[in-house]
Amino acid sequence: MASRRLFVTTALPYANAPFHIGHMMEYIQADIWVRFQRMQGHEVHFMGADDAHGAPIMLAAESAGKSPELFVAEIARGRRQYLEGFHLGFDNWHSTHSAENTELSQDIYRKLKAAGLVYTKPVEQFYDPVKGIFLADRYIKGECPNCGAKDQYGDACENCGTVYTATELRNPYSTLSGAAPVLKSSEHHFFRLSDPKCRAFLKQWLEAPGRLQPQVVNKAKEWLEGTGERALADWDISRDPPYFGIRIPDIKEEKYLYVWLDAPVGYLASFKNYCAKKGLDFEKLLQDPKTEQIHFIGKDIIYFHTLFWPAMLKYAGKPYKVPDHVYVHGFITVSGDKMSKSRGTGISPLRYLEIGMNPEWLRYYIAAKLNANVEDLDFNPDDFMARVNSDLVGKYVNIASRCAVFINRKFGGRLVAARRDFAFSAKAGEIAALYEQREFGKALREIMALADAANQFVDEQKPWELSKQPGAEHKLQQVCSVAINLFRLLTIYLKPVLPQTAAEAERFLNVAPLQWSDAGTLLPAGHRISEYRHLLNRVDEKQLDQLFDVASVPGVAKEQAVSDTISIDDFNKLDLRVAKIARAEALEGADKLLKLTLDMGDGTRTVIAGIKSAYAPEKLEGRLTVVVANLAPRKMKFGVSEGMVLAASGDGPEIFLVSPDAGAQPGMRVK
Ligand SMILES: [Zn+2]
Repeated sequence: MASRRLFVTTALPYANAPFHIGHMMEYIQADIWVRFQRMQGHEVHFMGADDAHGAPIMLAAESAGKSPELFVAEIARGRRQYLEGFHLGFDNWHSTHSAENTELSQDIYRKLKAAGLVYTKPVEQFYDPVKGIFLADRYIKGECPNCGAKDQYGDACENCGTVYTATELRNPYSTLSGAAPVLKSSEHHFFRLSDPKCRAFLKQWLEAPGRLQPQVVNKAKEWLEGTGERALADWDISRDPPYFGIRIPDIKEEKYLYVWLDAPVGYLASFKNYCAKKGLDFEKLLQDPKTEQIHFIGKDIIYFHTLFWPAMLKYAGKPYKVPDHVYVHGFITVSGDKMSKSRGTGISPLRYLEIGMNPEWLRYYIAAKLNANVEDLDFNPDDFMARVNSDLVGKYVNIASRCAVFINRKFGGRLVAARRDFAFSAKAGEIAALYEQREFGKALREIMALADAANQFVDEQKPWELSKQPGAEHKLQQVCSVAINLFRLLTIYLKPVLPQTAAEAERFLNVAPLQWSDAGTLLPAGHRISEYRHLLNRVDEKQLDQLFDVASVPGVAKEQAVSDTISIDDFNKLDLRVAKIARAEALEGADKLLKLTLDMGDGTRTVIAGIKSAYAPEKLEGRLTVVVANLAPRKMKFGVSEGMVLAASGDGPEIFLVSPDAGAQPGMRVK
């Protein structure tokens, strides 16, 4: 078969937070597929990047007292430990906040404009006169026009379910400043997605056989073929300043491309950045019809990837090419609970690594539950432990560990020719087809059925008894040679899922890195294996307890644990007050602590806070924050701390001080 060239991406994570388990699931899925393709001898370019632009990042950076550039750079620095930790073999990790992305996004904008697919029209929108910023719906609250419920968001009422537009809210206010927003008009740029030629192209692109999963085609066609109020609308691709993004080129006014335009271009920017590093011709590779462009994404971003993105690429023309495949997966739940941003994500990937759990267990478990459909996947701790211990340790590793000892001790590590192969080699094509189709669960079931057969062979031949029988030496060597050959074939089949375990198995087998085609051969007579060292441990139940008992470890993944409920009386015991940071000073000899002098409205007090890693002292002075005012004073090495300031943290090193909206005064009670 002719070798393929694959340009593969995963969705770009938004650079406002560390990775969660959902990111890991997507990367593991794509990584397994990529490793499988590499074992086939195909050329693969596997690209990732951070999605670094947009209003949420701009505002988060502002409240952290940092520039958005610094803010996203700090998030980016935290990525490596996850990618390496879970053996994710990206060839490049880049950012949408990069020279390549600016160049490509502006180029695509210009080409779409030249193709007559960009136009401008005025849009009237809410504007925060205090912050000087146009407000997206999620930054506006007010009273529901239907039932009068207070503090409802600008799109729908959580109380009565009525859907409305932000301009219909009664007494609207900006969640950024508390100010009443005003309506203001601005010229916006639109991409003419509703153009008949766009629709015709998308219909044909969506319907190409085998391009997309059937569920995805159906969903996208609902949007494409909607009529009346649900008709496909043109796409507003511009934003007004202040905005953290890429300037719209060739116009006098300062306007920016909407983050969702430049985000997918980040796939290409990462590829361009990688090509430059490798001395490859980016434009030639990208537009070559032989290059297959493949995106792995979650089901929440189908709209962007099956309508906007192919249409943008199609009408921007060369060197761009429309995606060959978009592979969509569902969400991950933990013990049946939907992952939720506000309640945390159930499992912290970093905590998983920190307590010494093997990343290949998670890779195996996720693979065992993945198929080619857009289905949610549940992480169930008991099921996780049972599968890893029974399949990987009890079946796969067991074959080598039971037989290696005899070959090493009695035969100097030498194998004899293995005549029986139990049709293991014949399964290579079937298992390959399942990997290719992303039917990983089915592939692993096939592989484990082979592992069962191999164990059955060992059980029947009983090498431990042969080793005690005089004159059975040759039979013993033969039985163990067969078993080790079977173990080698299983290692080939499991290698996309278990890259590190396979590398250790290759060391034990004393063979070059295994390729898929090696499944057609056996180890030759006289081949010498190395000493066997244990390949994989069992999951210990205590580790799972630790994984979920996140509250017990200070500084780690505190957001994951949803505490037991408390009564309002319990809550009222907390005296939370607005305080102004009058002075912030470093303490000699303390590398994590800052000494804060707080203006409490009716006096000052000193609080020692562990926020030095996140804030330069001079940036804090004059800021408002929230303090637990009735916390018993605590004597510390560097003095007495009279309270505690509130800050948020995730499972990365970042710390975010809590601030009230503008207008709050020192001493005000927070309830
Ligand atoms: Zn309502």
